[in-house]
Formats: sequence, structure tokens, C-alpha cells
Amino acid sequence: MKSLFSGMRPTGKLHIGHYFGALKNWKKLQDEYKCIFGAMDLHALTTSFEDTDKIGENIIDMIIDWLSVGLDPNKATFMIQSHVREHSELHLVLSMLTPLPWLQRNPVLKEQVKSLNLGDSFSYGLLGYPVLMAADILLYKSDIVPVGEDQVPHIEITREIARRFNFYYKEIFPLPKPKLTETPRIPGVDGKEKMSKSLGNHILISEPKESLEKKVMSMVTDPQKIRLKDPGHPEVCTVFYFHKMFNKEEVSQIEEDCKKGALGCVACKRNLAKKIYEYFAPIREKRAKYENDPDLVKNIIREGEKKAREIASSTMDEVREAMKMSY
Ligand code: ATP
Ligand code: MG
Repeated sequence: MKSLFSGMRPTGKLHIGHYFGALKNWKKLQDEYKCIFGAMDLHALTTSFEDTDKIGENIIDMIIDWLSVGLDPNKATFMIQSHVREHSELHLVLSMLTPLPWLQRNPVLKEQVKSLNLGDSFSYGLLGYPVLMAADILLYKSDIVPVGEDQVPHIEITREIARRFNFYYKEIFPLPKPKLTETPRIPGVDGKEKMSKSLGNHILISEPKESLEKKVMSMVTDPQKIRLKDPGHPEVCTVFYFHKMFNKEEVSQIEEDCKKGALGCVACKRNLAKKIYEYFAPIREKRAKYENDPDLVKNIIREGEKKAREIASSTMDEVREAMKMSY
């Protein structure tokens, strides 16, 4: 079986974007690959180095979501990035051979600096985000990396770095390709391009009923449809976008009724909130079970890290040898 690595930053409970952009593929791929899934705590520092007291809690919350959606620690390996030190070691080595302009022109960095209002005071670590990510992926010699569309530029940089290492030293790294779902970029409830916790436009997988309803009622709809009888344009409506995902049975009827002014936005939203809540019901039930077992996640991680460390340390041996640094 081939290996595969992917990770998420521990920002707490996961949202619909994480689920449809990445987790769905993780779940499928755990049967086809030797999967290593990481809680990327070092990556979390790139944008919030000053508040670290929640990271531990966030890791647990995130991994409970992984378990609840059906990731299986008997099939896949769960680990914490900073606990497998080889991630940091390979990051440092790769940073030496990464030309600065590759990082400076990274579109993800530009986007992040803009959306988080970082100006020019962002850290060296944030600039090096893709180098650390390259280390994560290459340590396990992943051929594919299941991620959302926003991460694709980072995987391109990973390929460039791998190519450069292979050229200068020895061909040890496969060039990884991104593996996207059929919904690779989930928009926010505000209609912005990407659902994201830091933008506050997200719906959690485990969203409680009341706040779920509130968030759906606040969703951006077709600005030209003001009254119930106005004909709507579903193609520009965020509510309709989510009906396509969560309400496959009714979606064509909704489209028809909206277009001819027979369906109002309030009723349409109420229906959507109900469908989303029902969709995640089994996942919520599992979550409640795992929440009652505080040692479960810790044991899973402890076991997982042993396995991850074995692969990572063997790759680092190869790296040192390729670089003639195994003296
Ligand atoms: P947030 O800002 O909400 O914490 P993030 O993008 O920082 O989200 P990451 O930990 O960087 O979260 O990403 C985890 C995985 O989830 C990545 O593969 C990313 O592409 C995917 N992902 C996150 N948000 C979305 C989204 N809105 N649509 C599709 N995929 C997403
Ligand atoms: Mg995040």
C-alpha cells in the first residue's frame, strides 16, 4: 500500500468546508492508502503564535470530529505534527534549498495577509508555511494529497521543492498531486468564496440546532429577489448552492419554484437548515459518544505517533544519506 499524508490546523471543531473539501476524501482514501493524518499545531502558529493555550483542546475537538465522520484509527494513523520531530528537521533542510521568490509570490500568502490584515508584519514562519507543508508531505512520500482547492498552490510549491531536492541530491521524493473532492471550495454563509473559521462565516459539522438556523437565515440570497413573488436566480444564491449539496431530492423543484416566484427565501432557508441538521445527525450522535471518553483521543494519538515516527525517521535517514550528511 502506498502512503499518503494530509493535515489540518487545530482550530477546534470542524466546519462544512473541511468536511466537503477534504474529510470526505480522507474517509474514502483510508481504504486505499496507508494514510497519515496530522493535527498541524506548528502550522497553527503561523498566524497565531501568541495564543497557544487553546491548541491542545482544539486538537482533541478536531480529532473527535475525524472519528465522528468515520475516520478509523485502525485504518489510518493520527498524529500531532510537533510530536514527530522529523517534520521540523526536514522543514529546516528544505528551507535551505527553497528560493525566496517561490514563497514571496505564493498566492495563498497574499490572500491571507489581506484577509487577516497582517500588513507587512507577518512572520518568517508564515512565509515558510509551504516549506513546512512540503516537509509534512514528503516525509511520508505521498503521491497524492487530499486537500481543498485553497491548498493547491502549496502542493505546487511542494512539487517544486521535491524536484529540486531530487535534482541536487538523489531521486527520493515522488512529486505529489492534489486530490480534490467534487466540491473543492465551499463558500461561506456570507457568500464569500471560502468558508473559514477565521472569517467567521462557517457552519460547524456539529453546529447546534439554534445557531445553525440563525446562520442559515443569515445566508446571502439573490439580491434581486426581494418579495416572495419576485423571480429568483438560484445560480447566484448561497442557499441554493447548499440545497444542491444537502437536499438532492428537492433541488430541481426548488430551482423551478424559485425561478417562477413560487418559493420565498424564508421558507427556502428554513427547509435548508432542517436538511443540514438531519444530514449531520448520525455524526453528532457519534460525537457525543466520543466526547464522553477523554482518554480515547490521547491513546489514539500515542499509538499513531509511533507509526508515523517510524516512517518519518527512515525518510530522514535517506535524506541525510542523499545529502552526504550521514557522517
Ligand atoms: P479555517 O480558516 O476555517 O480554520 P483553514 O483553511 O485554515 O480553515 P486548514 O486547517 O488550513 O483550515 O485546512 C484543512 C483542510 O480543509 C484543507 O485541506 C483545506 O483545503 C480544507 N478546507 C478548509 N476550508 C475549506 C473550504 N471552505 N472549502 C473546501 N475545503 C476547505
Ligand atoms: Mg484553520
